[in-house]
Amino acid sequence: MNDETQAKHKIVIVGGGASGLELATTLGKTLGRQGLAEITLLDATSTHIWKPLLHEVAAGTIDSSEAVEYLAQAYRCDFQFRLGKMQGLDRANKLIHVAPTYSSTQEELIPARSFAYDTLVMSVGSVSNTFNIKGVDEHCMFLDATSQAYSFQKQLLEACIKTHASANTQPLSIVIVGAGATGVELSAELHEVTRMLAVYGLEHANRVKITIIEAATQLLPALPHRLATATQDQLTKLDIDLKLGRRVVEVTPHSIKMHDGEELPADLKVWAAGIKAPDWMQNIDGLETNRINQLVVDANLQTSDPNIFAMGDCAACIWAGVPGNVNIPPRAQAAHQQASTLAKSIRNRLQGKPLVPFVYYDYGSLVSLGKYTTVGNLMGSLMGSVTIGGFVARIVYLSLYKMHQVAIHGYFRTAMLTLSNLFRRSVYVKIKMH
Ligand SMILES: Cc1cc2nc3c(=O)[nH]c(=O)nc-3n(C[C@H](O)[C@H](O)[C@H](O)COP(=O)(O)OP(=O)(O)OC[C@H]3O[C@@H](n4cnc5c(N)ncnc54)[C@H](O)[C@@H]3O)c2cc1C
Repeated sequence: MNDETQAKHKIVIVGGGASGLELATTLGKTLGRQGLAEITLLDATSTHIWKPLLHEVAAGTIDSSEAVEYLAQAYRCDFQFRLGKMQGLDRANKLIHVAPTYSSTQEELIPARSFAYDTLVMSVGSVSNTFNIKGVDEHCMFLDATSQAYSFQKQLLEACIKTHASANTQPLSIVIVGAGATGVELSAELHEVTRMLAVYGLEHANRVKITIIEAATQLLPALPHRLATATQDQLTKLDIDLKLGRRVVEVTPHSIKMHDGEELPADLKVWAAGIKAPDWMQNIDGLETNRINQLVVDANLQTSDPNIFAMGDCAACIWAGVPGNVNIPPRAQAAHQQASTLAKSIRNRLQGKPLVPFVYYDYGSLVSLGKYTTVGNLMGSLMGSVTIGGFVARIVYLSLYKMHQVAIHGYFRTAMLTLSNLFRRSVYVKIKMH
C-alpha cells in the first residue's frame, strides 16, 4: 500500500442489501471516484437480489437474471467488494472481524480476517424471528436469504412433481406462518405457480392446499382494516385457508400445532412471522441494542459510538412525529431513504460539516397478490391517505423496485434492464421449472 492509500478515510459498509448496496454505490461514485475515501462493501454472499423479490424467487416466477454481481458493481462504481460474514467488532482498534469463507465442499477459501475502518456502517438486515418456538428452526423454511428462496423453489417443484405422479388424491399441504406482507404475497404467488404447473402438464400439481396461520385477528396487521378485508376476500376466492387469531406452539416434521390443540398436517412449512436482527449483533462490543438485537441509533442514524452508523432492518430508529416512541418499520422504502441520507451525512463528515438528520416519509404500503391484484394505501402530505388497487397499485408497487434499480444502475441502465426483461418474458416460460 502506498502512502496516499493509507491516508484515505476508510469507510466500511457491512451488508450489501436494499440499503448497503445503494450507499456503497453512491459513495463510490462520489468519494471513491474523487479519491477522497476508500470504500469497502462486505457481504456474506457474492450476488444481490432485492429482498422484496424473494417470495417470487421462492415461487419460481423470477430467476437469477435479477441478481447484481457485487464485484462487477464495485468495479463500475469505484468501491471495493469483499466476500465474508462479519462476526465481531473491536471498537477500541476500529476493526471488524470476519469469519472464514468455505466452498460448497467445506474447503476453506478465505481465512478469518479483519478490516480496519474510520467510519463503519452496519446494514446487515434482519432474519426471521422464531420466538424460540419448538421445532421451527428444524422444520420450517425461511425467506431471509436468496439461497433459502432457491432452496424453497426446488422443494416446491419436487413436491409438485411428486403430487402429480402420486395415485394418492391427498392434496399437498403448504402452510405459511405469518400473515404480514411476506406471507400474504407468497401465498398468492404459490397459488399462481401451482396453477401454471398444471397448465404446463403437471395436471395434478394444483392439488394443493395453502394455509396461512396468523396470531393476530386480522391479515396484514400493519395495514388499514379496509385493505386487510379486501385482501382477505381475494385470498378466500383463491381458496387459501386463513387461520386468524391462532398461535403456533410447535412445529413437527409433518405438522403444525396451534394453541387451541389443532394439529395441521403440513408438507411444506414457511415461517414468516416477524423479524429480528441477527443474534451475534446483541450488545456487540458494548453498543446498545434492543430486544430484537437492532442497533439503537439516534436521528443521525449514529450509534453511541460516533464512528459507527446503522441503517435498514438492523437499526432501531425512533419515528419522529409519531406518538408512542414507535420505531421506523423494517421496510425497503425506509432502507432506501436511510441510504440516501447517510450518503449525504458521510460526505459532510469528511468535510467536517454537520450530519443530516434522518426524516422518514411513509409513502404507504402495497401488497402484491401476484397476477391477481395489488392493494395498498398511499400516503402523501397533499392527499392524505389514499387507498388504491388493481393496475395503479401494481405500477406503484413496481416503482419501488425501479427506485432501487435506479439507485444502483442509474436511469439509462434501469430502462435497458426493464426493456430486456420485457423481451425475455415474452420469449421464455413464466416460471422456473428446474
Ligand atoms: C419476502 C419479502 C418480501 C418483502 N416485501 C417488502 C415490500 O413489499 N415492501 C417493503 O418495503 N419491504 C419488503 N420487505 C422488507 C425489505 O426487504 C427489507 O426491509 C429490506 O430489504 C431491508 O434492507 P436492509 O438493507 O436493511 O437489509 P437487506 O436488504 O436484507 O440486506 C442485508 C444484507 O446483509 C448481508 N449480511 C447479513 N449478515 C451479514 C454478515 N454477518 N456479514 C456480511 N453481510 C451480511 C446479507 O447477505 C444482505 O445482502 C420484504 C422482505 C421479504 C423477506
